[in-house]
Amino acid sequence: MRLILLGPPGAGKGTQAKKLLAEFGIPQISTGDMLRAAVAAGTELGKKVGPIMAASQLVPDELIVPIFAERVAKADCAKGYVLDGFPRTIAQALALENSGQRIDAVVSLEVPVDVLIERQSGRWTCPKCGSIYHQKSSPPKQVGVCDRDGAALSQRSDDKPEVAAKRQEVYRAETAPLKEFYAQRGLLHVVDGLGEPDAIYMAIKKVLSR
Ligand code: AMP
Repeated sequence: MRLILLGPPGAGKGTQAKKLLAEFGIPQISTGDMLRAAVAAGTELGKKVGPIMAASQLVPDELIVPIFAERVAKADCAKGYVLDGFPRTIAQALALENSGQRIDAVVSLEVPVDVLIERQSGRWTCPKCGSIYHQKSSPPKQVGVCDRDGAALSQRSDDKPEVAAKRQEVYRAETAPLKEFYAQRGLLHVVDGLGEPDAIYMAIKKVLSR
């Protein structure tokens, strides 16, 4: 199964991708995670994209498309994958289409913008295992500490409240048009992204079984 999870920052794409990975064993491909790893490792790519990400802008298509292509060519993607954060522009969607990768479904997680900004700005992640917490809806047992491995939780710089609104605007302008793009291809499924993650996951599985 090759699946695209579409939705604005904070809609829960990463959480749902992890559930799909746990049940179906198909890898989550998060271009955001890959870019953050490059920034943390201080690679040439990281140096280029760091300031762009910090400014809540999109990394240019000509940089991100080859990163995506290289990743999906790896053996673990043979049975499929869940795309989380790619494509983000019409140009990227066209590149994906032209790459010959046949997408089975696109799930758009819909959440009102004010809820998104609230969700995003309360999100904390474990730099070690990737676990995601929220200070209100799913806090760790001990403030600032990962339940799983005891690592200190960190807040992504682009999740800070002052940049959260900017990222929503970039989504609306650059990525939201992909809904129409995939609707025209008969691939789009809209799922309500408000509520408990498990209930949303059930709704996703329901549309996928159609
Ligand atoms: P994310 O974790 O998916 O929200 O991505 C974090 C940041 O990485 C975004 O704000 C962009 O700066 C960059 N990024 C991730 N994926 C893409 C993409 N497909 N196209 C352009 N920029 C991206």
